[in-house]
Amino acid sequence: MAKRDYYDVLGVGKNASPDELKSAYRKLAVKYHPDKNPDDKIAEDKFKEASEAYGVLSDKSKKENYDNFGHAAFENGGGGRGGFGGFGGFSGADFSDIFEDFFGDFGGGNRRNSSRNSHNRGSDLRYDLSISLEEAYTGKKQNIQFSTTEKCNTCKGNGLKPGSSPDRCTYCGGNGRVRTNQGFFTVQQTCPQCAGSGEEITNPCGDCNGQGNKQTSKKISVTIPKGVDDGTRIRLAGKGEAGTRGGTSGDLYLFINVESHQLFKRSDVNLFFEFPISIADAALGTNIEIPTIDGGKAKIKIPDGTQNGKQFRLKGKGMPFMRRGDFGDLYVQVKTEVPISLNKEQKELLEKFRKIDNERSNPSIKKFFQKAKNFWKS
Ligand SMILES: [Zn+2]
Ligand SMILES: [Zn+2]
Repeated sequence: MAKRDYYDVLGVGKNASPDELKSAYRKLAVKYHPDKNPDDKIAEDKFKEASEAYGVLSDKSKKENYDNFGHAAFENGGGGRGGFGGFGGFSGADFSDIFEDFFGDFGGGNRRNSSRNSHNRGSDLRYDLSISLEEAYTGKKQNIQFSTTEKCNTCKGNGLKPGSSPDRCTYCGGNGRVRTNQGFFTVQQTCPQCAGSGEEITNPCGDCNGQGNKQTSKKISVTIPKGVDDGTRIRLAGKGEAGTRGGTSGDLYLFINVESHQLFKRSDVNLFFEFPISIADAALGTNIEIPTIDGGKAKIKIPDGTQNGKQFRLKGKGMPFMRRGDFGDLYVQVKTEVPISLNKEQKELLEKFRKIDNERSNPSIKKFFQKAKNFWKS
């Protein structure tokens, strides 16, 4: 079947402004809206046709494609992203604005279903979980227990006493929607009483008082991926509270708190710690063994003359990147410790050392006094 030109459908010229397009579409949408023309197939087709035309012409890039290539722009997935079949298939804020402005929570298509689901959707839950840095490094499986609601087995979640059927909602007469007049337009909204289901339960299930779900304590096993950081949020889809009357379940969010570590400081995927060494080791050089987060050890050669604050980097000895195979690095910073509580022998040796210490061994000191001398002279 040949498609009508989108501009013809809306009855506007090719140079119509966005406002003219919007106004032309409004007129048609109000005239042919399925709510105003129940069971009228022709009106429904006209409504869809106008919606499709507006969906394209109100979108700058789609309009451009259409102006250049006509309907061919949207065939076989070329140009447009397909899916103009049902009028639930559109996206774009501009488009939904119109429906909210003019019809409130408008009926028909997917929108009604989604709003219905969102009314009955179960609540999301939050679970705070503290783990150690080592556990964040390896990842882990953990059982968690929390209080939630689950679908009632007696009524299978519909809230009805077994064997009974629901009555029509008295508020909306079974429509699921209520109309209010707002100036020129009749605005439709989801019925507040039945949340759009159009039904009312007069014989509620005794086990759940007609709620369709019950309070329970649930225990599940969760997998904490390796590399999680403090503040990581893990979403477990559908593990939240059960929905009511056929609504979908909410989600469970795990909020991860990674406890601080007595040795390692973490910054993203890198780890860091200070390693204290004696001034003798710093001056003469040594080999040290340092702990790594995997529970093992690594060796570092401290060369002679290592200054306080010198940093050594151990590649790949940091935390794992989440969902990747590689690792961050470990930074070890040397902190030379000036000895305290010296015994007699140590003092004597250091006194001896001080006397034979020469300017070559302490170039910074020599440099400083050179500058100071110049300063006093000038
Ligand atoms: Zn029940
Ligand atoms: Zn109702």
